[in-house]
Amino acid sequence: MSFKPANNIQDLQYFGEFGGVNPSISDSSTYTFLHAKTMMDTFEGNAEGCYLYSRHSSPSNLNLGEALAAMEGTETANVAASGMGAITPTLMQLCNTGDHIVSSRTIYGGSYAFLKNFAPKFGITTSFVDITSLEKIEAAINKNTKVIYCETVSNPLLEIANIPELSKMAKRHNLTLVVDNTFSPLSLSPVILGADIVIHSLTKFINGSSDTVGGAVCGTQEFINSLRNVNDGASMLLGPVMDSLRSASVLKNMRTLHIRMKKHSENAMYLSEKFEKDGIRMIYPGLKSHPQHELYKTMYNAEYGFGGMLAFDVGSLKVADDLMELMQNRNLGYLAVSLGFYKTLFNAPGTGTSSEIPLDEQEKMGLSDGLIRFSIGLDNDIERTYQEMKKCMQEVGVL
Ligand code: PLP
Repeated sequence: MSFKPANNIQDLQYFGEFGGVNPSISDSSTYTFLHAKTMMDTFEGNAEGCYLYSRHSSPSNLNLGEALAAMEGTETANVAASGMGAITPTLMQLCNTGDHIVSSRTIYGGSYAFLKNFAPKFGITTSFVDITSLEKIEAAINKNTKVIYCETVSNPLLEIANIPELSKMAKRHNLTLVVDNTFSPLSLSPVILGADIVIHSLTKFINGSSDTVGGAVCGTQEFINSLRNVNDGASMLLGPVMDSLRSASVLKNMRTLHIRMKKHSENAMYLSEKFEKDGIRMIYPGLKSHPQHELYKTMYNAEYGFGGMLAFDVGSLKVADDLMELMQNRNLGYLAVSLGFYKTLFNAPGTGTSSEIPLDEQEKMGLSDGLIRFSIGLDNDIERTYQEMKKCMQEVGVL
């Protein structure tokens, strides 16, 4: 694929107010108008370039949004205070009472809980399906369906969505394809592959410092305007706005995203290959043994590899807990939720980040207690990490 997301980010040029090499941070919640009429026009969305109030938009948030839109190849993007603050307004904007969503059943636990437990309060229902089966997805579509929702690389089982085929299906049925690309920034570009809207939790790889939560919706100007509409825009009215100081800091971290993603992927690939050779059943899209390895290769921006996430099953929660505690004691990473940090993070999602998903449903989707999800860090010497991890695995009886 010839799409160059990091080039697109780098081609943007910003100047600070005093010629600074970083854009000035807009440290205001509200903005003055020289003429009362312009304020009125701004309220009505007819005053290009004017700012009204920072819950609506701010220069710093627009700068970050511009970089995210450049990365995903969309017209524009809206920055939010968290990934959930991007996901929930998007779905509420697209759906009315009585509407229906077809969602992948392997998605982030919070997104799952929103669709299963919260959206029905507003009469929005969801069918959860195996995203790797195009037949099952199509069979779940009914006359009220408005949205197909999935993650490019699913959390935590690392199933890969066939975005070009899902896009064709969405177009056939006049649906909006919304894709959460949190696990695979730069590596996969869903809108370029045919999706309508891309969502990110900036909390993860994009910010990369585990020092903030943040989110973004990338899409058409028309859709982003609808989210920000003062009368009926879900982002404007529900109010999950990111603070300007923080968006300026996320934008600075985006400058190194391409370097970090390459290293995350290189390290995850290294460990996956080594442990697979040692006899562990690894789940990593870069391995030939991954069921959607070939599919991933048809979609990815190859220079960023297959991403920094991997998983494997150690048989039971007890062994998973022992291994994770031992690895943390040996300073191989942190027993923590989240992902995309410089240091490796690991958790057992069945009891952690996916605990919102009922146990019987976890079982159906193949999410067992002993599964450990890893976000592989930026370790400089990954062979040393492998040797140390291997010792831990031997000590708890996994190897
Ligand atoms: N999407 C995915 C794939 C996630 O893993 C997460 C969080 O773990 C979210 C969305 C939610 O993002 P946030 O925690 O920034 O609200």
